Amino acid sequence: VSSAIDETHDPALQSWVDAANHDGCEFPIQNLPFGRFREAADMDWRIGVAIGDQVLDLRRAGLIDSHDMNRLMRLLPAARRDLRAAISAGLSRGGAKEASWRSALVPMSRAEMGLPCMIGDYTDFYIGIHHATAVGKLFRPDNPLLPNYKWVPIGYHGRASTINVSGRDFRRPLGQLKSADAAVPEVAPSRRLDFELELGVFIGRPNPQGQPITIENAEDHVFGLALFNDWSARDIQAWEYQPLGPFLSKNFASTVSPWIVTMEALAPFRRAYGRPSGDPAPLPYLDSPANRAQGAIDVDLEVLLQTARMREAGTAPVAITRSNFADAAYWTIAQLVAHHTINGCSLMNGDLLGTGTLSGADPATAGSLLELTSGGKSPIKVGRDEQRTFLEDGDTIALRGRCRREGFREIGFGECRATVLPAASVSA
Ligand code: MN
Repeated sequence: VSSAIDETHDPALQSWVDAANHDGCEFPIQNLPFGRFREAADMDWRIGVAIGDQVLDLRRAGLIDSHDMNRLMRLLPAARRDLRAAISAGLSRGGAKEASWRSALVPMSRAEMGLPCMIGDYTDFYIGIHHATAVGKLFRPDNPLLPNYKWVPIGYHGRASTINVSGRDFRRPLGQLKSADAAVPEVAPSRRLDFELELGVFIGRPNPQGQPITIENAEDHVFGLALFNDWSARDIQAWEYQPLGPFLSKNFASTVSPWIVTMEALAPFRRAYGRPSGDPAPLPYLDSPANRAQGAIDVDLEVLLQTARMREAGTAPVAITRSNFADAAYWTIAQLVAHHTINGCSLMNGDLLGTGTLSGADPATAGSLLELTSGGKSPIKVGRDEQRTFLEDGDTIALRGRCRREGFREIGFGECRATVLPAASVSA
């Protein structure tokens, strides 16, 4: 199974790529995430693996024969593990590949990263229970969680066409806004633009329509995880969301990090999955011994903000919140896959599942400004002399993720970053 620990996780393993061995490096030889890169705009995207400050071109290294990431993601779990073992052996210090693979390395500083694969469909879940509770409280102080929350992994179908790779900036959306005291709505740039700290789950292996994926097999269908920012226009959302849920408040832009950290790389960071006493047990199709024993994944998450003024002054981005995937999530990835297909729905190769906002239990560790500012009522302090309720033009948000466990090498997710550009004019 993908959660098995093997010799590729050995913390003593070192690479002949020196930077990979440095303390704090996000891409040591124990990580080996997959991404798509090119060295010039007129070149084809190629498949690379991050190692230290370099990208290993898998085709040039003779490991694969195509540039098609989606095809690679369709590999059976055993073939995925074999490929990981071959990359690990070839990059290990003292291995036989150093001489031949040197020419297959491209410095990250020279690699432009693309979306990690062709994304088919995109579904966004709502598994952050502290987020669901805090947002629910803004509307229903006495009864924040709706009665279905602990039974059904809540989600909505999003749109893949406007998912961008990290580094692609986007315009503040225009939309219909209606303030409580206005008689009619107006079309204007969103004034309540927010980020959502999420993880993205990439589906590798599809299921035929009508054949649900069981929770026991669910992770065979998952290739890996990336950081995901589901930018949200809260004012557009508030006016449009009833009765069918989010629509244009969510699909103007989403940002995903370029590297997919594989389920195999995450094996040492698995955690038991359980629920607070008194909560209902998941229905049988959402429950298994393996899911209880190690269904959760321990990922430390962080959100950094750099305002335009900070950038001009040369001030580094500041952390505005921190949380943890396992602590925030009420459901596991295997449960999401099993639930999504229980009705016979097909998940396709390259599909992306967003987890939903991963807020910590403490309000100061929330994964969105909506929560951090109590619905826009209490600004947060940013840097030395600025504050924010929602995002302003020129603000850059970067998500980061790290996995740490005693006795294992720390691995990272890289960065998921974009800057808010001014809205287009309304008449355009
Ligand atoms: Mn979301």
